[in-house]
Amino acid sequence: MSRIWRALTLTIFPEMFPGPLGLSLAGKALGEGKWVLSTLDIRDFATDKHRSVDDTPAGGGAGMVMRADIAAPAIDAARAAMPTDTPTIYLSPRGAQLTQVRVRDLAGGPGVILLCGRFEGVDQRALDARNVEEVSIGDYVLSGGELAAQVLIDACVRLLPGVAGNEASLAEESFASGLLEYPHYTRPREWEGRAIPDVLLSGDHEKIAKWRREQAEKITKEGRPDLWQKLTRR
Ligand code: SAH
Repeated sequence: MSRIWRALTLTIFPEMFPGPLGLSLAGKALGEGKWVLSTLDIRDFATDKHRSVDDTPAGGGAGMVMRADIAAPAIDAARAAMPTDTPTIYLSPRGAQLTQVRVRDLAGGPGVILLCGRFEGVDQRALDARNVEEVSIGDYVLSGGELAAQVLIDACVRLLPGVAGNEASLAEESFASGLLEYPHYTRPREWEGRAIPDVLLSGDHEKIAKWRREQAEKITKEGRPDLWQKLTRR
């Protein structure tokens, strides 16, 4: 029996969830029990009466750092609540950048435990002691890990069986084959003097497939030479 995919997020803002994950494709699937979302409030692991989770950086400097003695027990509690083979990921600009290949890999597993940082980040000792992998969603800095966690979850959930309405569309979309996707058109047939390319109205499926493939290659070559190189080097 296949297990249900689960995401558990560790955050000081549990009210940010489900957020956008409660709507549209992911939200519908969540409502139907096709995946499970839970949150643990990191503040519940605070030990003082103010429920503080951060402190000033050792060595000085700006900002605050999430304490190891609070982050680590929160990670432990998350791990105890999830299947033992669930990966633990700290969303962090320092991590390896998330790719569709990794998303597919994560979607095929039991789920994810996601640690959302705030402030300047998390005390390194907690990450080392709990052997937490770091994953980035891109080369820019967010104010917290929650949006990044939602990006990762959304990308995974849409690949789960029975979630996307049309699973055939997943095979063709950007990155699935290493290429970016071809352009889309729909009615009206002419709009502001712009026509839908003739070939798409020809009814010739072979010709259409060939055109789409050529477009995908052209778009990838021009827009993302790095992807194109990777593809042609294989
Ligand atoms: N001082 C850190 C940035 C902290 S931003 C640095 O310079 O690397 C606060 C939190 O936002 C981080 O702990 C992380 O959880 C999240 N975050 C910020 N940018 C991110 C990104 N590109 N990908 C994933 N998480 C990110």
